[in-house]
Amino acid sequence: MPLIGAHMSIAGGYYKAVEAAAEVGCDCVQLFTKNNNQWRAKPISDTDVSLFRDALKRLEIQAPLSHASYLINLAAPDRALWLKSIDAMVVELERAERLGIAHVVVHPGAYTTSSEARGIRKIAWAIDRIHRRLPRCQAQILLENTAGQGTTLGWCFEQLARVIDLCREPERVGVCIDTCHAFAAGYDWRTPSGFRSTVEALESVLGWERIAALHMNDSLKPLGSRVDRHAHIGHGEIGVDGFRRIMRHRRLRRIPMYLETPKSTDPETGQPWDVVNLETLRNLARSK
Ligand SMILES: [Zn+2]
Ligand SMILES: [Zn+2]
Repeated sequence: MPLIGAHMSIAGGYYKAVEAAAEVGCDCVQLFTKNNNQWRAKPISDTDVSLFRDALKRLEIQAPLSHASYLINLAAPDRALWLKSIDAMVVELERAERLGIAHVVVHPGAYTTSSEARGIRKIAWAIDRIHRRLPRCQAQILLENTAGQGTTLGWCFEQLARVIDLCREPERVGVCIDTCHAFAAGYDWRTPSGFRSTVEALESVLGWERIAALHMNDSLKPLGSRVDRHAHIGHGEIGVDGFRRIMRHRRLRRIPMYLETPKSTDPETGQPWDVVNLETLRNLARSK
């Protein structure tokens, strides 16, 4: 069976995210290691670390994943923001390492007033600087594909591949694929031919060994809309057929999966949405 989990809040401590994940029946968990809308972060104490690690072990939650701050823009043409983003990403990786988290997901960035080509080069240069400052860091950067809103980069797999190819240490960079973002960017999971070409692009452009995480989100907005709005599994435009193909694909189902769907309660079942979405995905993984 695939490893399936969800993004959880760290309010009250990192171990709280692990407990929340276990509560709804997750196998794995994603979290922010700091406030995702602030640059500053208070240091992680030894107690924070041991409570977190103990909770993972005790509750058998695997593959903890960190998501970096939304403020980071490694493609920023503004030098001050670009340097600040590099500093922030160094901190993100150090915090993940401290907590024993193997990967930090980051959105590649937006080129704003420059160009696509320039933005892609800046992201690679930023990653090189980050790596030079952390020569022995085990925690790795995962570039997440985006929906392609505005000037955000990484909506097509070729852009992610180009960034990685430009890095001095490409083996230190992986990828996280968000199903909603890919769909909004024009990759169709729903139909046999759309699914085949999406999977073929993942394999030939990125390669399976680079894809270390999947974000499992349905999309409120249509195929190719370039708008990022997450929906509950089977309740959006990707629908049950798309997720059935993903859950039954022999390579995709081996990658840890994380829900980033709205919290709250499903009025139909009275259950927390995470419980409902996990069950939907597990049923699809078992289906013929
Ligand atoms: Zn993300
Ligand atoms: Zn995502």
